[in-house]
Amino acid sequence: MTQKIPVLQDPTPPFATDGKFHVRLIEGFFQNLRRLTTWPLIALYFGLVWVQVDGQPILFFSFEQRRIHLFGSLLSWHDLPLLAGLMIAGSTLLFFVAVAWGRVWCGFACPQSIWTWLFIRIEQLTEGRANERARYDGSFKSARLLRRLAKHGLWVLLALLTAITFTGYFVPIREIVTAGASLQLSMTMVTWLLIMTALTYTNAGLVREKICLHACPYSRFQSVMFDQHTLSVSYDAGRGEPRAQYRNADENSGDCVDCGVCVQVCPTGIDIRDGLQAACIDCAACIDGCNSVMDKLQRPRGLIRFASEQQLKGSTSPLLRMKLLGYGVIMIGAITAVSYGFTETKSLLVEVQRDRTELFTRIDPNRLCNQYRVKVEGFSDEIDIVRVSLSEHTRFQLLGPTDIDLRDSSSTWLPFRICSTYADPVGEKLDFVFTANGVSTTKATTFITQRM
Ligand code: SF4
Ligand code: SF4
Repeated sequence: MTQKIPVLQDPTPPFATDGKFHVRLIEGFFQNLRRLTTWPLIALYFGLVWVQVDGQPILFFSFEQRRIHLFGSLLSWHDLPLLAGLMIAGSTLLFFVAVAWGRVWCGFACPQSIWTWLFIRIEQLTEGRANERARYDGSFKSARLLRRLAKHGLWVLLALLTAITFTGYFVPIREIVTAGASLQLSMTMVTWLLIMTALTYTNAGLVREKICLHACPYSRFQSVMFDQHTLSVSYDAGRGEPRAQYRNADENSGDCVDCGVCVQVCPTGIDIRDGLQAACIDCAACIDGCNSVMDKLQRPRGLIRFASEQQLKGSTSPLLRMKLLGYGVIMIGAITAVSYGFTETKSLLVEVQRDRTELFTRIDPNRLCNQYRVKVEGFSDEIDIVRVSLSEHTRFQLLGPTDIDLRDSSSTWLPFRICSTYADPVGEKLDFVFTANGVSTTKATTFITQRM
């Protein structure tokens, strides 16, 4: 039977002081693996915002120009559903990974975890290791206060850099930095940066694991996605129990010496020996911690390890199974649909609106004109000039800029007139034709007149 993940509302943290605990950093195979995932992700986050190719940002969401630069593709605001599709495809990938390997995303790649680890590293750098921090918690000695001040100062600095970088994906980063250096940032920008800084500082510095425990919906989903073959960080109770401290152990004792290392290194403050829990983010710190203890005791590693429920019972877990295949098919379908969507994006967007203030203007007894507003937006560097014409209606005359230079007039509404000496019939359909680089796009509209 599939084991559901119990939601522990009140996990007992190590070094508990008013619900606060100090995470002990550990070294080991999985922590090195985490470095391989987190440092490149951090470098990408802080670096991509500065990268330009041919003068264009590689990743940028421009509210002003209503366009998105996405790794060489130029998308319009109309393509936002495509981004939503991209996120859905990403979610299906996440679900697929969760069925196979549990919450490895949370432990190894989630921004909340990554920033929390960064903040903990700063904490260790300034205030010392976990036991030292616990010993002096609440101390008002001036040396401790100075170290605490340094910690909060570095936290604020990192939070501010994070906020500036995040904003740089929506407002040109060079403009923000230049304006900031010359103290010319607008009040709106200052307020926004302060809010983002405060959020980052609070999330990664103060609230930390509580986001994973209480705010992240993913931890709730996982109890549905997990099955008895899902690999997750697990304690081998069959081998470890009955636990006994090393000096009290006898031949009936299990391998767990109740040293508490696995609890001290846990960033969410839980005891993995209590079983599978929603608060566990599969960061594997407890595996490294316990392995280091087993090494010292010259016992086999793996008392805590990535294992499925079935594997802990001594059975095997198949690599391929129906649930995993099902999620795999959904994931491939979603990724294929989004990839197809990207190939179908338009490089030219046109909008035509009739002037609603008057249906038509009579310029002489036999001649009527209708007014239109036209907007042409190009989403390719190869399109400069767009020719505007009318489809096969020789009796209509188009008045307005026939060649639109997108370098000058992209995103602005341009006035056009269509005139005709004919007055029949009322409300004739016709098409605007927009031609760029030999490719034409049409936009239907109506010519309104009256019987004379
Ligand atoms: S129980 Fe282990 S894997 Fe889970 S969050 Fe704690 S340290 Fe990480
Ligand atoms: S680190 Fe290993 S030996 Fe120590 S308490 Fe945890 S499970 Fe037991």
